Amino acid sequence: MNVLLIGSGGREHALALALAKSPLLTKLFAAPGNPGTAQVATNVALDVADARAVIAFCQIQNIGFVVIGPEQPLVDGLVDALEAAGIKAFGPSKLAARLEGSKGFTKDLCAKYGIPTGAYARFTDRDAALAYLRDKGAPIVVKADGLAAGKGVTVALTLAEAESAVNDLFGGAFGAAGAECVIEEFLDGEEASFFALCDGDKALAFASAQDHKRVGDGDTGPNTGGMGAYSPAPVVTDAIAARVMDEIVNPTVAAMKAEGCPFKGVLFVGLMIGEDGPKLIEFNTRFGDPECQVMLARLEDDLLGALLGCAVGNLPEKVHLSPKTALTVVMAARGYPGTPKKGGVIAGIAEAETIAGVKIVHAGTKMHGENLVANGGRVLNVVALADSVFDAQNLAYRGVDALDFPDGFCRRDIGWRAIGH
Ligand code: AMP
Repeated sequence: MNVLLIGSGGREHALALALAKSPLLTKLFAAPGNPGTAQVATNVALDVADARAVIAFCQIQNIGFVVIGPEQPLVDGLVDALEAAGIKAFGPSKLAARLEGSKGFTKDLCAKYGIPTGAYARFTDRDAALAYLRDKGAPIVVKADGLAAGKGVTVALTLAEAESAVNDLFGGAFGAAGAECVIEEFLDGEEASFFALCDGDKALAFASAQDHKRVGDGDTGPNTGGMGAYSPAPVVTDAIAARVMDEIVNPTVAAMKAEGCPFKGVLFVGLMIGEDGPKLIEFNTRFGDPECQVMLARLEDDLLGALLGCAVGNLPEKVHLSPKTALTVVMAARGYPGTPKKGGVIAGIAEAETIAGVKIVHAGTKMHGENLVANGGRVLNVVALADSVFDAQNLAYRGVDALDFPDGFCRRDIGWRAIGH
Protein backbone atom coordinates (compact mmCIF):
# COMPACT_ATOMS: atom_id res chain seq x y z
CA MET A 1 0.00 0.00 0.00
CA ASN A 2 1.22 3.52 -0.76
CA VAL A 3 0.90 5.90 2.21
CA LEU A 4 0.93 9.70 2.45
CA LEU A 5 2.03 11.23 5.76
CA ILE A 6 1.04 14.85 6.39
CA GLY A 7 3.18 17.15 8.55
CA SER A 8 6.79 18.27 9.00
CA GLY A 9 7.73 18.04 12.69
CA GLY A 10 9.49 15.58 14.97
CA ARG A 11 6.19 13.74 15.31
CA GLU A 12 6.10 13.12 11.58
CA HIS A 13 9.73 11.96 11.37
CA ALA A 14 8.97 9.51 14.21
CA LEU A 15 5.80 8.35 12.42
CA ALA A 16 7.72 7.98 9.16
CA LEU A 17 10.40 5.82 10.83
CA ALA A 18 7.73 3.50 12.26
CA LEU A 19 5.59 3.39 9.09
CA ALA A 20 8.66 2.63 6.95
CA LYS A 21 9.15 -0.64 8.88
CA SER A 22 5.68 -1.93 8.03
CA PRO A 23 5.33 -5.09 5.94
CA LEU A 24 2.11 -3.51 4.58
CA LEU A 25 3.99 -0.54 3.07
CA THR A 26 4.91 -0.22 -0.59
CA LYS A 27 5.89 3.44 -0.83
CA LEU A 28 5.82 6.27 1.72
CA PHE A 29 5.38 9.96 0.83
CA ALA A 30 5.62 12.89 3.28
CA ALA A 31 4.03 16.31 2.69
CA PRO A 32 5.83 18.55 3.24
CA GLY A 33 8.13 16.38 5.42
CA ASN A 34 11.62 17.37 6.58
CA PRO A 35 15.20 16.16 5.95
CA GLY A 36 14.56 13.31 8.43
CA THR A 37 11.47 11.99 6.66
CA ALA A 38 13.44 12.29 3.39
CA GLN A 39 15.64 9.41 4.60
CA VAL A 40 12.70 6.97 4.61
CA ALA A 41 10.05 8.67 2.42
CA THR A 42 9.70 10.82 -0.67
CA ASN A 43 9.02 14.40 0.42
CA VAL A 44 6.47 16.27 -1.67
CA ALA A 45 5.78 20.01 -1.73
CA LEU A 46 1.99 19.84 -1.37
CA ASP A 47 -0.21 22.55 0.11
CA VAL A 48 -1.81 20.39 2.79
CA ALA A 49 -4.41 23.09 3.55
CA ASP A 50 -5.78 22.51 0.04
CA ALA A 51 -7.87 19.31 0.28
CA ARG A 52 -8.39 19.16 -3.48
CA ALA A 53 -4.63 19.20 -4.09
CA VAL A 54 -4.13 16.44 -1.52
CA ILE A 55 -6.84 14.30 -3.13
CA ALA A 56 -5.41 14.85 -6.62
CA PHE A 57 -1.97 13.78 -5.39
CA CYS A 58 -3.45 10.66 -3.76
CA GLN A 59 -5.20 9.70 -6.99
CA ILE A 60 -2.08 10.17 -9.12
CA GLN A 61 0.17 8.23 -6.73
CA ASN A 62 -2.40 5.54 -5.91
CA ILE A 63 -2.31 6.38 -2.17
CA GLY A 64 -4.32 3.87 -0.14
CA PHE A 65 -4.01 5.55 3.25
CA VAL A 66 -3.28 9.07 4.53
CA VAL A 67 -1.81 9.59 8.02
CA ILE A 68 -2.39 13.12 9.32
CA GLY A 69 0.03 14.35 12.01
CA PRO A 70 -1.08 17.89 13.01
CA GLU A 71 -4.45 19.12 14.31
CA GLN A 72 -5.26 21.93 11.87
CA PRO A 73 -6.06 19.73 8.84
CA LEU A 74 -8.29 17.57 11.08
CA VAL A 75 -10.24 20.54 12.42
CA ASP A 76 -10.50 21.82 8.82
CA GLY A 77 -12.11 18.53 7.71
CA LEU A 78 -9.36 16.89 5.63
CA VAL A 79 -10.43 13.38 6.73
CA ASP A 80 -14.02 14.08 5.58
CA ALA A 81 -12.78 15.29 2.19
CA LEU A 82 -10.50 12.27 1.73
CA GLU A 83 -13.19 9.79 2.75
CA ALA A 84 -15.69 11.44 0.40
CA ALA A 85 -13.14 10.81 -2.36
CA GLY A 86 -12.85 7.14 -1.32
CA ILE A 87 -9.43 7.50 0.34
CA LYS A 88 -8.88 6.05 3.82
CA ALA A 89 -7.31 8.34 6.42
CA PHE A 90 -6.04 8.16 10.00
CA GLY A 91 -7.66 10.83 12.14
CA PRO A 92 -11.08 12.09 13.20
CA SER A 93 -13.72 13.75 11.07
CA LYS A 94 -14.24 17.51 11.38
CA LEU A 95 -17.13 16.96 13.81
CA ALA A 96 -15.16 14.50 15.94
CA ALA A 97 -12.11 16.82 15.93
CA ARG A 98 -14.22 19.27 17.98
CA LEU A 99 -12.87 17.33 20.97
CA GLU A 100 -9.71 19.36 20.33
CA GLY A 101 -11.08 22.28 18.32
CA SER A 102 -13.67 23.45 20.85
CA LYS A 103 -13.03 23.35 24.58
CA GLY A 104 -16.67 24.29 25.20
CA PHE A 105 -17.89 21.30 23.14
CA THR A 106 -15.69 18.95 25.18
CA LYS A 107 -16.75 20.39 28.53
CA ASP A 108 -20.43 20.06 27.61
CA LEU A 109 -19.85 16.46 26.50
CA CYS A 110 -18.13 15.68 29.82
CA ALA A 111 -21.02 17.23 31.75
CA LYS A 112 -23.65 15.32 29.76
CA TYR A 113 -21.91 11.93 30.05
CA GLY A 114 -20.36 12.21 33.53
CA ILE A 115 -16.71 12.29 32.43
CA PRO A 116 -14.51 13.60 35.28
CA THR A 117 -13.15 17.11 34.64
CA GLY A 118 -13.04 20.49 36.40
CA ALA A 119 -16.23 22.52 36.96
CA TYR A 120 -16.66 25.18 34.27
CA ALA A 121 -18.82 27.79 32.57
CA ARG A 122 -18.88 29.09 28.95
CA PHE A 123 -19.15 32.78 28.01
CA THR A 124 -19.54 34.88 24.89
CA ASP A 125 -20.02 38.04 26.95
CA ARG A 126 -17.16 39.80 28.72
CA ASP A 127 -19.16 41.25 31.61
CA ALA A 128 -20.80 37.92 32.42
CA ALA A 129 -17.35 36.26 32.39
CA LEU A 130 -15.91 38.93 34.70
CA ALA A 131 -18.86 38.58 37.09
CA TYR A 132 -18.36 34.78 37.21
CA LEU A 133 -14.64 35.25 37.97
CA ARG A 134 -15.38 37.60 40.84
CA ASP A 135 -17.85 35.11 42.25
CA LYS A 136 -15.42 32.14 42.03
CA GLY A 137 -12.11 33.86 42.91
CA ALA A 138 -8.55 32.64 42.16
CA PRO A 139 -6.82 30.35 41.38
CA ILE A 140 -8.89 29.81 38.26
CA VAL A 141 -8.23 28.94 34.62
CA VAL A 142 -9.30 31.03 31.59
CA LYS A 143 -9.30 29.37 28.14
CA ALA A 144 -10.06 30.51 24.60
CA ASP A 145 -12.64 28.12 23.14
CA GLY A 146 -10.86 27.39 19.82
CA LEU A 147 -7.39 26.43 18.61
CA ALA A 148 -4.91 29.08 19.72
CA ALA A 149 -1.58 27.40 18.96
CA GLY A 150 -1.16 26.36 22.59
CA LYS A 151 -1.37 29.97 23.81
CA GLY A 152 -5.06 30.28 24.70
CA VAL A 153 -4.86 29.10 28.32
CA THR A 154 -4.13 31.25 31.39
CA VAL A 155 -3.74 29.55 34.75
CA ALA A 156 -4.48 32.63 36.88
CA LEU A 157 -3.20 32.63 40.45
CA THR A 158 -4.83 36.02 41.19
CA LEU A 159 -8.18 37.53 40.28
CA ALA A 160 -6.38 40.41 38.52
CA GLU A 161 -4.56 37.95 36.24
CA ALA A 162 -7.82 36.17 35.45
CA GLU A 163 -9.57 39.46 34.66
CA SER A 164 -6.80 40.56 32.35
CA ALA A 165 -6.93 37.17 30.55
CA VAL A 166 -10.68 37.62 29.97
CA ASN A 167 -10.12 41.18 28.75
CA ASP A 168 -7.35 40.06 26.35
CA LEU A 169 -9.51 37.27 25.03
CA PHE A 170 -12.56 39.41 24.33
CA GLY A 171 -10.19 42.15 23.09
CA GLY A 172 -9.32 39.84 20.18
CA ALA A 173 -5.92 38.47 21.30
CA PHE A 174 -6.79 35.04 19.84
CA GLY A 175 -8.96 36.11 16.92
CA ALA A 176 -11.94 33.85 16.24
CA ALA A 177 -10.61 31.23 18.72
CA GLY A 178 -11.37 33.72 21.50
CA ALA A 179 -14.91 34.68 20.49
CA GLU A 180 -15.99 32.38 23.31
CA CYS A 181 -14.23 31.56 26.55
CA VAL A 182 -14.34 28.72 29.04
CA ILE A 183 -13.60 29.46 32.69
CA GLU A 184 -12.58 26.41 34.61
CA GLU A 185 -11.88 25.22 38.12
CA PHE A 186 -8.15 25.03 38.93
CA LEU A 187 -7.12 21.38 39.29
CA ASP A 188 -4.26 20.37 41.52
CA GLY A 189 -2.04 17.29 41.03
CA GLU A 190 0.51 15.88 38.62
CA GLU A 191 0.00 16.23 34.87
CA ALA A 192 0.44 13.34 32.47
CA SER A 193 -0.66 12.39 28.97
CA PHE A 194 -2.41 9.20 27.97
CA PHE A 195 -3.00 8.00 24.41
CA ALA A 196 -5.63 5.57 23.12
CA LEU A 197 -6.29 4.34 19.58
CA CYS A 198 -9.97 4.50 18.64
CA ASP A 199 -11.98 3.09 15.73
CA GLY A 200 -15.26 4.90 16.36
CA ASP A 201 -16.67 2.01 18.34
CA LYS A 202 -13.97 0.95 20.77
CA ALA A 203 -10.63 2.07 22.16
CA LEU A 204 -7.26 0.45 22.80
CA ALA A 205 -4.85 1.83 25.40
CA PHE A 206 -1.61 2.84 23.68
CA ALA A 207 0.83 4.51 26.09
CA SER A 208 1.43 7.21 28.69
CA ALA A 209 3.97 10.02 28.54
CA GLN A 210 4.96 13.24 30.25
CA ASP A 211 6.30 16.31 28.51
CA HIS A 212 8.01 19.52 29.62
CA LYS A 213 6.21 22.64 28.43
CA ARG A 214 8.39 25.40 29.88
CA VAL A 215 11.51 26.51 28.04
CA GLY A 216 13.86 26.51 31.04
CA ASP A 217 15.30 24.01 33.51
CA GLY A 218 13.17 23.53 36.62
CA ASP A 219 10.02 24.31 34.57
CA THR A 220 10.79 28.04 34.34
CA GLY A 221 10.25 30.60 31.57
CA PRO A 222 7.57 30.77 28.90
CA ASN A 223 5.52 27.88 27.53
CA THR A 224 6.67 26.07 24.38
CA GLY A 225 5.38 23.31 22.13
CA GLY A 226 7.35 20.93 24.40
CA MET A 227 11.06 20.68 25.27
CA GLY A 228 11.28 16.97 25.97
CA ALA A 229 9.28 13.93 27.04
CA TYR A 230 9.49 10.39 28.27
CA SER A 231 7.29 7.31 28.08
CA PRO A 232 5.95 5.56 30.09
CA ALA A 233 5.03 8.11 32.78
CA PRO A 234 5.56 6.43 36.18
CA VAL A 235 2.66 8.46 37.65
CA VAL A 236 0.31 6.58 35.29
CA THR A 237 0.35 3.27 37.15
CA ASP A 238 -1.58 0.30 35.76
CA ALA A 239 -4.41 1.16 38.16
CA ILE A 240 -4.54 4.80 36.95
CA ALA A 241 -4.40 3.67 33.31
CA ALA A 242 -7.35 1.33 33.91
CA ARG A 243 -9.32 4.21 35.50
CA VAL A 244 -8.48 6.52 32.58
CA MET A 245 -9.82 3.91 30.14
CA ASP A 246 -12.96 3.18 32.25
CA GLU A 247 -13.81 6.71 33.37
CA ILE A 248 -12.60 8.91 30.49
CA VAL A 249 -11.65 7.14 27.22
CA ASN A 250 -14.38 4.50 26.88
CA PRO A 251 -17.19 6.87 27.97
CA THR A 252 -15.92 9.47 25.47
CA VAL A 253 -15.86 6.99 22.59
CA ALA A 254 -19.40 5.86 23.51
CA ALA A 255 -20.56 9.49 23.87
CA MET A 256 -19.17 10.52 20.49
CA LYS A 257 -20.90 7.56 18.86
CA ALA A 258 -24.17 8.44 20.59
CA GLU A 259 -23.82 12.06 19.43
CA GLY A 260 -23.52 10.88 15.83
CA CYS A 261 -19.84 11.76 15.38
CA PRO A 262 -17.84 8.61 16.19
CA PHE A 263 -14.23 9.27 17.09
CA LYS A 264 -11.57 7.55 14.98
CA GLY A 265 -7.87 8.18 15.39
CA VAL A 266 -5.74 8.73 18.45
CA LEU A 267 -7.30 10.31 21.53
CA PHE A 268 -4.68 12.27 23.48
CA VAL A 269 -5.92 12.68 27.03
CA GLY A 270 -4.31 15.53 29.00
CA LEU A 271 -4.72 14.45 32.62
CA MET A 272 -4.41 15.95 36.07
CA ILE A 273 -3.85 13.15 38.56
CA GLY A 274 -4.91 14.39 41.97
CA GLU A 275 -5.95 12.84 45.27
CA ASP A 276 -9.30 11.63 43.93
CA GLY A 277 -7.82 10.13 40.75
CA PRO A 278 -7.47 11.23 37.12
CA LYS A 279 -9.41 14.19 35.72
CA LEU A 280 -9.49 15.44 32.15
CA ILE A 281 -7.73 18.75 31.45
CA GLU A 282 -8.14 18.60 27.70
CA PHE A 283 -8.35 16.27 24.72
CA ASN A 284 -6.22 16.48 21.62
CA THR A 285 -7.17 14.48 18.58
CA ARG A 286 -3.71 13.58 17.24
CA PHE A 287 -0.36 12.38 18.55
CA GLY A 288 1.50 14.89 20.71
CA ASP A 289 4.92 16.13 19.74
CA PRO A 290 7.36 15.31 21.43
CA GLU A 291 5.32 12.51 23.10
CA CYS A 292 4.89 10.66 19.78
CA GLN A 293 8.66 10.24 19.45
CA VAL A 294 9.03 8.43 22.76
CA MET A 295 5.93 6.26 22.44
CA LEU A 296 6.91 5.09 18.96
CA ALA A 297 10.49 4.41 20.10
CA ARG A 298 8.92 1.76 22.41
CA LEU A 299 6.50 0.31 19.83
CA GLU A 300 7.22 -3.33 18.96
CA ASP A 301 4.19 -3.96 16.70
CA ASP A 302 3.32 -2.73 13.22
CA LEU A 303 2.20 0.92 13.35
CA LEU A 304 0.62 1.02 9.90
CA GLY A 305 -1.63 -1.97 10.69
CA ALA A 306 -2.77 -0.36 13.96
CA LEU A 307 -3.50 3.04 12.38
CA LEU A 308 -5.33 1.39 9.50
CA GLY A 309 -7.38 -0.53 12.10
CA CYS A 310 -8.58 2.82 13.53
CA ALA A 311 -9.77 3.95 10.10
CA VAL A 312 -11.58 0.76 9.06
CA GLY A 313 -13.08 -0.27 12.42
CA ASN A 314 -10.70 -3.15 12.96
CA LEU A 315 -8.50 -2.28 15.94
CA PRO A 316 -5.95 -4.94 16.93
CA GLU A 317 -6.59 -6.71 20.28
CA LYS A 318 -3.41 -5.26 21.72
CA VAL A 319 -0.31 -3.31 20.75
CA HIS A 320 2.99 -4.26 22.32
CA LEU A 321 5.31 -1.59 23.62
CA SER A 322 8.70 -2.20 25.19
CA PRO A 323 8.69 -1.92 29.01
CA LYS A 324 11.85 0.17 28.63
CA THR A 325 11.77 3.98 28.94
CA ALA A 326 12.23 6.23 25.94
CA LEU A 327 13.24 9.85 26.58
CA THR A 328 13.64 12.68 24.09
CA VAL A 329 15.47 15.97 24.49
CA VAL A 330 14.45 18.79 22.14
CA MET A 331 17.21 20.94 20.66
CA ALA A 332 15.77 24.36 19.87
CA ALA A 333 17.23 27.34 18.02
CA ARG A 334 18.37 30.24 20.17
CA GLY A 335 15.54 32.72 20.65
CA TYR A 336 12.80 30.05 20.84
CA PRO A 337 9.93 30.34 21.82
CA GLY A 338 10.28 34.00 20.75
CA THR A 339 11.99 34.52 17.40
CA PRO A 340 14.30 31.56 16.75
CA LYS A 341 17.59 32.10 14.94
CA LYS A 342 17.41 30.39 11.56
CA GLY A 343 20.34 29.06 9.55
CA GLY A 344 22.56 27.74 12.37
CA VAL A 345 24.66 24.82 11.08
CA ILE A 346 24.14 21.40 12.70
CA ALA A 347 26.82 18.69 12.68
CA GLY A 348 27.51 15.49 14.59
CA ILE A 349 24.31 13.56 13.83
CA ALA A 350 26.19 10.48 12.61
CA GLU A 351 28.42 10.62 15.72
CA ALA A 352 25.39 10.85 18.03
CA GLU A 353 23.73 7.91 16.31
CA THR A 354 26.79 5.70 16.81
CA ILE A 355 25.77 5.58 20.50
CA ALA A 356 23.69 2.39 20.92
CA GLY A 357 20.08 3.29 21.76
CA VAL A 358 20.25 6.89 20.43
CA LYS A 359 18.27 8.16 17.43
CA ILE A 360 18.11 11.71 16.07
CA VAL A 361 14.63 12.83 15.03
CA HIS A 362 14.42 15.90 12.79
CA ALA A 363 11.89 18.73 13.19
CA GLY A 364 12.77 22.26 11.95
CA THR A 365 15.81 21.37 9.86
CA LYS A 366 16.61 21.89 6.19
CA MET A 367 19.48 21.28 3.81
CA HIS A 368 21.38 24.40 2.73
CA GLY A 369 23.90 23.27 0.13
CA GLU A 370 25.95 20.59 1.87
CA ASN A 371 24.94 21.69 5.37
CA LEU A 372 22.03 20.75 7.58
CA VAL A 373 20.76 24.00 9.13
CA ALA A 374 18.11 25.14 11.61
CA ASN A 375 14.84 26.20 10.00
CA GLY A 376 12.41 26.59 12.91
CA GLY A 377 12.00 26.86 16.66
CA ARG A 378 12.26 23.21 17.67
CA VAL A 379 15.02 21.91 15.42
CA LEU A 380 15.89 18.35 16.33
CA ASN A 381 15.34 15.75 18.99
CA VAL A 382 17.66 13.26 20.65
CA VAL A 383 15.69 10.10 21.49
CA ALA A 384 17.15 7.43 23.78
CA LEU A 385 15.78 4.03 24.79
CA ALA A 386 17.08 2.41 27.99
CA ASP A 387 16.08 0.35 31.03
CA SER A 388 15.07 3.28 33.27
CA VAL A 389 14.31 7.00 33.06
CA PHE A 390 17.68 7.66 34.69
CA ASP A 391 19.58 5.58 32.09
CA ALA A 392 17.54 7.02 29.19
CA GLN A 393 18.30 10.54 30.43
CA ASN A 394 22.05 9.83 30.60
CA LEU A 395 22.03 8.27 27.16
CA ALA A 396 20.03 11.11 25.58
CA TYR A 397 22.42 13.75 26.96
CA ARG A 398 25.40 11.76 25.63
CA GLY A 399 23.67 12.10 22.26
CA VAL A 400 23.12 15.83 22.81
CA ASP A 401 26.80 16.29 23.69
CA ALA A 402 27.88 14.49 20.51
CA LEU A 403 26.01 17.10 18.41
CA ASP A 404 27.64 20.29 17.23
CA PHE A 405 24.92 22.98 17.03
CA PRO A 406 26.34 26.24 18.41
CA ASP A 407 23.12 28.17 17.72
CA GLY A 408 20.98 25.61 19.55
CA PHE A 409 20.09 24.93 23.16
CA CYS A 410 18.17 22.38 25.20
CA ARG A 411 16.91 21.80 28.72
CA ARG A 412 19.35 19.75 30.79
CA ASP A 413 16.76 18.25 33.16
CA ILE A 414 14.31 16.29 30.99
CA GLY A 415 12.90 13.46 33.13
CA TRP A 416 13.51 15.12 36.51
CA ARG A 417 10.01 14.48 37.79
CA ALA A 418 10.12 10.75 37.05
CA ILE A 419 13.63 10.35 38.43
CA GLY A 420 12.42 11.94 41.67
CA HIS A 421 9.47 9.50 41.88
P1 AMP B 1 -4.51 23.03 27.82
O1 AMP B 1 -4.15 23.77 26.57
O2 AMP B 1 -5.97 22.96 28.12
O3 AMP B 1 -3.78 21.71 27.96
O4 AMP B 1 -3.86 23.87 29.00
C1 AMP B 1 -2.48 24.17 29.01
C2 AMP B 1 -1.92 23.92 30.39
O5 AMP B 1 -2.64 24.71 31.35
C3 AMP B 1 -2.11 22.49 30.86
O6 AMP B 1 -1.10 21.66 30.39
C4 AMP B 1 -2.09 22.67 32.36
O7 AMP B 1 -0.73 22.79 32.83
C5 AMP B 1 -2.76 23.98 32.56
N1 AMP B 1 -4.18 23.81 32.86
C6 AMP B 1 -5.21 23.76 31.98
N2 AMP B 1 -6.38 23.56 32.62
C7 AMP B 1 -6.10 23.51 33.94
C8 AMP B 1 -6.89 23.33 35.13
N3 AMP B 1 -8.22 23.23 35.06
N4 AMP B 1 -6.26 23.32 36.32
C9 AMP B 1 -4.92 23.47 36.39
N5 AMP B 1 -4.11 23.64 35.32
C10 AMP B 1 -4.69 23.65 34.11
